[in-house]
Amino acid sequence: MDDQRIAEIVRRVLSELQTQPQGATAPRGHVATCMGGAVSGGRDGVFNSIEDAIAAAKQAFTRWSKVPLSERKRYIQIIRDLSKQRNHEWAEMTVRDTNMGRASHKEIKNRLAYELTPGPEELSTYCQTGDKGMMLEEYTPFGVIGTITPTTNPVATVINHSIAMLSAGNTIVFGPHPNAVQCTLQSMQEINRALTAAGAPANLMTSVSEPTLKTAKVIMTHDDISLLVVTGGPAVVRAAMESPKRAIVAGPGNPPVVVDETANVGHAAVSVYEGSSFDNNLPCITEKSCFVVSAVYDEFLAAIRQRGAYLLDRQQTEAMTRAVITPDDHVNKDYIGKDASYVAQQAVGVTVSSNCDLLIAEVGRDHPFIVHELMIPLLGIVRCNSYEEAIQAAHHAEHGFKHTAIIHTQRIDRITEFAQLMDCNLFVANSSCGACLGNGGEGYTAFTIAGKSGEGPCTPKTFSRRRRFAIANAMRFV
Ligand code: NAD
Repeated sequence: MDDQRIAEIVRRVLSELQTQPQGATAPRGHVATCMGGAVSGGRDGVFNSIEDAIAAAKQAFTRWSKVPLSERKRYIQIIRDLSKQRNHEWAEMTVRDTNMGRASHKEIKNRLAYELTPGPEELSTYCQTGDKGMMLEEYTPFGVIGTITPTTNPVATVINHSIAMLSAGNTIVFGPHPNAVQCTLQSMQEINRALTAAGAPANLMTSVSEPTLKTAKVIMTHDDISLLVVTGGPAVVRAAMESPKRAIVAGPGNPPVVVDETANVGHAAVSVYEGSSFDNNLPCITEKSCFVVSAVYDEFLAAIRQRGAYLLDRQQTEAMTRAVITPDDHVNKDYIGKDASYVAQQAVGVTVSSNCDLLIAEVGRDHPFIVHELMIPLLGIVRCNSYEEAIQAAHHAEHGFKHTAIIHTQRIDRITEFAQLMDCNLFVANSSCGACLGNGGEGYTAFTIAGKSGEGPCTPKTFSRRRRFAIANAMRFV
C-alpha cells in the first residue's frame, strides 16, 4: 500500500469521525456477548466489561500474530499518520478531560510519541555462525499486554504504546486513569478504527467504558494478560510489584537539577525554566528541585526571573506551602498540573504577569517543595555552599527512584561523577529534561520509563520475548 492509499484511509476515518459523536462511546446497557467464541458488543475496542475487553484482545492476538511483518509496518505507519493529523484535537481534549497541563505542550508530547517511538524496525534478527552451526534470535510477542496508564500523559501514552506494543506483535488492554477516560478511550478508538479501515483485525486495543481501580486490578490478575505494564505513582507501583504477573513498572520521579559555578548560568536558567514549566510540571522527567552553588546563585536567580519566573517572598512561600501541602503531608490535588497564574492567585492571592509559567521559592533542602513530587509549576531552589553539597542534596531529594537527573556544568568530570552518583534511567547534561526523550536531544522517545523493574525507557524490544533458534552443524558457507 503506498502513501497515497494510506492518506486516503486516514482521510476517510477523519470524515467518519466528524459525523459521529465524540467521546468514549460504548453504548450504555449494551452487554457484550461471547457467541461461538467471538466477543461482540464493543465499540472500536471499548467494552462494558473488562472481562470482555480482555477476551476481545485475546481473540485479536490470534489474528494479529498471523499478520505478515510488512503489513504490521504499514499499520504502524497508519497510527503515526492519524496521530499527526489528530494531534491538535487530541491535545485540547486531554486538557479538557483531565483539567491539567497545557494543550500546546500536550501537542509536543504527542508529536514526540508519533515521530520518535521506535517501530518494528527495532526488532532486527540477530544471527551468529561458528564451527557448531548457526543460531538466530528473534523478537516475538508476549500476547495480550495489560497497560495501566497515567493521567499526566494519557494520549501520548496511547500513541506510544500502540506503536511500541503493536510493533512487537502484541495486542493491548488499556486501564486508563479514571480522570482521563474520554481522551484515552477516544484516541484508542480512533486508532482502532483507522487500523480496521485499512484491513487490520478489530480490537487490537481494547478497554472498558468505565475504568476504575477495580477494573485495573482485574487487568493485573487476569489469566489472559501475559504481561503487565504499569505507569504511575507509588500506590499503583506497589500494587504492580505485588501482582503475580511479570510486570514492567514505571514509577514516580522527583528529578533534581544541579547548577555549578562553571555552568553557563544564563543558559542553565532558561533550560530549568522551560523544563520545569513544561506541561505545568506534570511529566515525571521535569525538573522538580533545583540546587545552585552559592557562587552563581544570585546570577541564576536573576536570570530565571528575567526569563519569566515569579519569585515568591518568604511570606508567600509559607502561605504557598500551607496551600499546596495538605496537613497529612500530601500534595493538594487541586493544584496539580494547573497554570502558574492560577496557582499563584488561588494559593496566595498573587497576580503574576501573563507570560509567567513558573513560580520559584528559595527553600532549604528538606522543604516539602523539594521532597515532594509536586507536579505543579512551582520550583524550590536551594542555595548550596559547594558543588559537593549540591550533588549530595540532589541525591537525597531524588529518594533513590533512579528516574531522572540533570546537571549544568562545564566540567566533564562532574558530569560523570553526578551521573554515577544518581544512577538514574535518564540523565541530562546542559539542557532541559526533555533532551533525554528526544525533545531537544538525540534519540528515540519513550513514555514509560521503567525504573522500578529496571527496563528503563521502554521500546518494542521491551515488549518482546527474545527467542533463540539453533541449528547444529549446518547452515553455513564456511
Ligand atoms: P496514579 O498513580 O494516580 O495513576 C496511575 C494509574 O494507576 C491510573 O491508571 C490509576 O487508575 C492506576 N492506579 C492508581 N492506584 C492504583 C491501585 N492502587 N491499584 C490499581 N491501579 C491503580 O498516577 P497519575 O497521577 O496518573 O500519574 C502521575 C504519576 O505517574 C507520577 O508519580 C509520575 O511520576 C508517574 N509517571 C511515571 C512515568 C514513568 O515513565 N516512570 C510516566 C508518567 C507518569
